Amino acid sequence: MHNDSTGEKRFASFAPGYWPGVTPENWNDWRWQLKNRVTKLEQLEQHLTLAPEERAGVILSGNKLSLAITPHFFNLIERDNPDCPIRRQVVPRIEETATAPWEMADPCGEDSHMPVPGLVHRYPDRVLFLVTDRCASYCRYCTRSRVVSGAGEQELHTDFEEAFRYLEKHTEIRDVLLSGGDALLFSDDKLENLLRRLRAIGHIEFLRIGTRVPIFLPQRITPELCAMLQKYHPLWMSVHANHPRELTLEVKAALERLANSGIPLGNQSVLLRGVNDDAATMKALVHKLLMCRVRPYYLYQLDLIKGSSHLKVPVSKGIEIIESLRGHTTGYGIPQYVIDAPGGGGKVPIGPGYTIFHDEEKIVIRNYEGKIFEYPEGSAQPAELAGESFHE
Ligand SMILES: *Cc1c(COP(=O)(O)O)cnc(C)c1O
Repeated sequence: MHNDSTGEKRFASFAPGYWPGVTPENWNDWRWQLKNRVTKLEQLEQHLTLAPEERAGVILSGNKLSLAITPHFFNLIERDNPDCPIRRQVVPRIEETATAPWEMADPCGEDSHMPVPGLVHRYPDRVLFLVTDRCASYCRYCTRSRVVSGAGEQELHTDFEEAFRYLEKHTEIRDVLLSGGDALLFSDDKLENLLRRLRAIGHIEFLRIGTRVPIFLPQRITPELCAMLQKYHPLWMSVHANHPRELTLEVKAALERLANSGIPLGNQSVLLRGVNDDAATMKALVHKLLMCRVRPYYLYQLDLIKGSSHLKVPVSKGIEIIESLRGHTTGYGIPQYVIDAPGGGGKVPIGPGYTIFHDEEKIVIRNYEGKIFEYPEGSAQPAELAGESFHE
């Protein structure tokens, strides 16, 4: 490790951190991590100096979305800093109990696009399959907090048999996205049964799993899990990291195991106030993702979920961040900035415009430095033909 200024040094392990007494065997056991999640005010207070807004948030947000943080992820939280970007994602705050007039329980209109309970069919050729309501840890801005964690307004009642029948009948569906909740919390056997069942449907070409487990619970990404997953290719995975500190040595190793199993990896970040709403943080994040062999896929504008306005960032800031990346760094590192249209319009790309003018004759564009260029649209007529038509 002579090359100190580059790469590897930016990845660190934070274990055992707040759990000095734990054995490495237990620490590296994903079931131990789940059993020992931080779920109570007393546990939070044992380790962290809580702000009054956080203490009140823990007490008052319990009927909205459960509190749960894996020891692995909890170790990333700074003890005395209420503005810690990791803390803001998983520790409740009193602001969660305030609902702005534009906020909704189901901001992306998923419930109205469910032909079968648990199956969201919004786009022509692909579906979102909500296979569980449990996650390793709970993101306070969860777009599905109405059903996730078991604490909220509704329950998720996925009807698996009816969902399989729907998928079999709808031959236009070629892409199934497993989400929830987090499908990687299933046992290997349970997940394999699900994947096998989907693979048995001839017209389903493409499987993917949307998961934050590699970030919250990298111990879950065992060699056995990877060996099982790679039987179901093409299988892609979208992970969810928001801040560069989340990419620890353990997370990097887990992502490498997945990549080595032939699973193409994308990342979906949410733009969050006080977490990743500045260009330097986002650039550090995408660079570390590329080093973990993860392609930044989407940057989401925050869904209008109830009690999330303290995490909301103006769209202009998101555009500015994307603009600070485009041209200035590796194209593979630039996510597509999207708004999941409120009410159920699906993901709509937004971002800096590079087209200044466009008609049938030309397009005028600007580059990342602000220089202007013109690209003609007309196709040249061969001279003879042009002449003939002139004489007509
Ligand atoms: C995000 C999403 C998908 C997948 O969209 P891609 O742009 O293909 O990644 C599919 N269905 C629903 C309902 C979604 O929200």
